[in-house]
Amino acid sequence: LVRLRARLSRSQNALGKGLLTLLAREHLDDDTWEEIEDTLLTADVGVQPTQELVEQLRARVKVLGTRTPAELRGLLREELLKILVPEFDRAVKTDSPLDTPGIVMVVGVNGTGKTTTTGKLARVLVADGKNVVLGAADTFRAAAADQLQTWGERVGARTVRGPEGGDPASIAFDAVKEGIEEGADVVLIDTAGRLHTKTGLMDELGKVKRVVEKHAPLDEILLVLDATTGQNGLVQARVFAEVVDITGIVLTKLDGTAKGGIVIAVQRELGVPVKLVGLGEGADDLAPFEPEAFVDALIG
Ligand code: GDP
Repeated sequence: LVRLRARLSRSQNALGKGLLTLLAREHLDDDTWEEIEDTLLTADVGVQPTQELVEQLRARVKVLGTRTPAELRGLLREELLKILVPEFDRAVKTDSPLDTPGIVMVVGVNGTGKTTTTGKLARVLVADGKNVVLGAADTFRAAAADQLQTWGERVGARTVRGPEGGDPASIAFDAVKEGIEEGADVVLIDTAGRLHTKTGLMDELGKVKRVVEKHAPLDEILLVLDATTGQNGLVQARVFAEVVDITGIVLTKLDGTAKGGIVIAVQRELGVPVKLVGLGEGADDLAPFEPEAFVDALIG
């Protein structure tokens, strides 16, 4: 929590403070509620969740009458948590039901932090005593395989790669095969995220998924979204959700944005949980998403 708070405040994440300041005004008139709404929208909370949040807050503040700062903080905390849907199961699943390795596919638009996230996740799993194989199926971006392999060497995971511009599905297949043969615990597959055409993306990711599933059940398809891209991230999320069944979201670069509200918007949009958050470029900068810690960091 301390680290999360430090990272979020480094990016001047002013959402919580802004809301508390507005709520503490003596007269909560329509203008103030509008300002509260604007603050939420500016932080990328999204239109519908914002309306619900404001409605709830309005009703509860009205009941309260006089308000102490502690009461206001409590209200805001509860309402933010409600909207974050804390009952989601947020653990990244890597335990295959069969005698095969757990398979995790990492998808998302290039530049969102896919490869970095795959490397960081490998580090967490290796530190957990797991034997990890990395599949460098992002053959579109020239340096991606090198980058993943560097991560692999750093954290102690083998990387399976193919020729530049090679077939992503065949590399994914090779990685799964190696994982099975070596008795690995988890295979993480980094994929390419070209968004030029939806059919192209669909063909490629669909093929990777089909080939993998012929050999082992897929445990997770994690969608990586860059928190700094705001509403654009939501558009990406929609496209990917049409192409593959996303099971969890990784929100990267939360350290570089004052728009933490995207967590709320994207969960609402896809109906799947944010499971991990990226808080920097370093190896240890991937954290499980914990709604309570997140809200506490947000409202200080
Ligand atoms: P990919 O094309 O999606 O595989 O993206 P990369 O993994 O190469 O990441 C793109 C850039 O974002 C790199 O410079 C990463 O170091 C950086 N990056 C990734 N995750 C985070 C994060 O959580 N915070 C910050 N500040 N930078 C990140």
